[in-house]
Amino acid sequence: MTSPRWDVVVAGAGPAGLAVAAACADRGLSVAVVAPSTRPWTHTYGLWADELATAETTLLGGAAAGARYPTTLVRTGAGDHDLRRPYARLDNELVHATLLERVRAAGGELVTGRVGQVRDGRVAVLDDGAELTGTVVVDARGGGPGTAQQRAWGERVAGPVPDVVPVGGALLMDWTALRDPADPRPPAFLYGMGLDDGTVLLEATSLAGRPPVPLPALRDRLHAHLARHGLRSVGEPEKVAIPLDARATGTGGVPVGAAAGRVHPATGYSVASSLRLGPVVADAVVGGAGPAEVAALVRSRRRRATLGLLGIGREVLLGLDEAATDRFFQAFFTLPSRAWAAYLDVDSSPAAVAAAMLRVAAALPAAGRRTLLTGVVRALRS
Ligand SMILES: Cc1cc2nc3c(=O)[nH]c(=O)nc-3n(C[C@H](O)[C@H](O)[C@H](O)COP(=O)(O)OP(=O)(O)OC[C@H]3O[C@@H](n4cnc5c(N)ncnc54)[C@H](O)[C@@H]3O)c2cc1C
Repeated sequence: MTSPRWDVVVAGAGPAGLAVAAACADRGLSVAVVAPSTRPWTHTYGLWADELATAETTLLGGAAAGARYPTTLVRTGAGDHDLRRPYARLDNELVHATLLERVRAAGGELVTGRVGQVRDGRVAVLDDGAELTGTVVVDARGGGPGTAQQRAWGERVAGPVPDVVPVGGALLMDWTALRDPADPRPPAFLYGMGLDDGTVLLEATSLAGRPPVPLPALRDRLHAHLARHGLRSVGEPEKVAIPLDARATGTGGVPVGAAAGRVHPATGYSVASSLRLGPVVADAVVGGAGPAEVAALVRSRRRRATLGLLGIGREVLLGLDEAATDRFFQAFFTLPSRAWAAYLDVDSSPAAVAAAMLRVAAALPAAGRRTLLTGVVRALRS
């Protein structure tokens, strides 16, 4: 085989790819990133403020890399609940530019193109036939479609809108705002936060649907809500479709991010975990691990067991109607914060996730507990 020109070749320039590329460049490894484009990411990426702080420390050189929301509100039929865990939003332009700059500064190469195939974990074959050989090829080309998806339709309105989203805070989920007693399906919640330009982003969100909820249904729910509050939207909508059960698509190389199937199966989050994983992958390569060993680290038995349990949680949620979903989240967020936080993190141990699931079952009223346990049994059998 041709001797590797690069230590690491990364296919894809999303959060997962650039996190690995920058962490490798920081450690003195030679890096090439191949992607159709290296424009800044356009999605609004939310994460917990503590996760943002970790990324700032371990990956972003200590620079502040996003907006913070001290209040994180969940609104259910039981009322408002401040989670007392601040939320955050990634500053895409800054994080993207910081990561790219780290790669460039270390002599890394940015190649415009598409990787069609990865051979032997070491050779990235581009669509035009060019080959880039690395000690390790990292596959960060994003995920497959899946059958269940989170969907959301978001629009911006002039802020602040204190009766909808706490001023300076984030609305993680409001299960009361979008209710339509005449049409209770799909269960949908409102998500929202203030943006840097003074507008407030509001998203009508279907947590999980199989088949996915059509975006126009969410748009209509959002528009009805805006009309009730006399709000007018500005700018372009944000359309969200996140596959929740896509299998790992990364073949042949070291898959990371959505390509590794590492999107949270019940919530669709992956960015914080991808930013955390970059340095882990880089350390393994520096330590002499080859493609198979690094891939085994990313998709270890422990990590797969956690994803499996979280997938059961998704299947349970898929079976709940609007009222049951509201009751589920009332119970979920009354758990100790360590328990619900463990469930929301794809990097938690399987034991921590299982414990959170048992606690939420115990916290539900009898009817809800029956629904949850029936769902778990059904999901385990399927
Ligand atoms: C609108 C939206 C909002 C979201 N909001 C959140 C959120 O708030 N928080 C959160 O945690 N997650 C969120 N997600 C989910 C998920 O985290 C994102 O999808 C995230 O971008 C996944 O990161 P990634 O780097 O794994 O893949 P992607 O971001 O999909 O990046 C894939 C990269 O690979 C490149 N590529 C594709 N094909 C090839 C090829 N053949 N060769 C080379 N390169 C290729 C692409 O150009 C891109 O650069 C959101 C998703 C969407 C769609």
